[in-house]
Amino acid sequence: MATIFSKIIKGEIPSYKIAEDDDFYAFLDINPLAKGHTLVVPKVEVDYYFDIEDTTIAKMNVFCKRVAKAIEQVVDCKRVGVAVLGLEVPHAHVHLIPINNLHDINFARPKLKFTDEEFRNIAEEISKNI
Ligand code: AMP
Repeated sequence: MATIFSKIIKGEIPSYKIAEDDDFYAFLDINPLAKGHTLVVPKVEVDYYFDIEDTTIAKMNVFCKRVAKAIEQVVDCKRVGVAVLGLEVPHAHVHLIPINNLHDINFARPKLKFTDEEFRNIAEEISKNI
């Protein structure tokens, strides 16, 4: 069965899209730790991040870099933190999270709430900088 992220990539489930190429899809996390918290997903469905094929995982890092640079243009932060968990969704993905301190990337923290319009605006601003 297709994962929720494959459905998002195919457009069967809506997302706040940031960027896409032949191999990857980036979109805002719906339960963000910070404004601009983005997920980068390979289009090929692999559960565990370190099972991603070598060429793809290398290209994924370059794609993440492009997205992180765009996030930095829009969100005031010291840097963009990177996390891989995969405890919830069995489709490998990288979290890109704007951070100013260690606390900002603590996944045990309550998540932020944004309206649909706010999510859209954030995605639009970041995607303009890709
Ligand atoms: P994990 O698999 O532990 O890395 O967590 C999965 C992440 O995907 C969580 O941060 C969720 O908020 C996020 N997530 C789950 N479903 C969606 C969705 N439909 N749109 C955006 N983000 C999602």
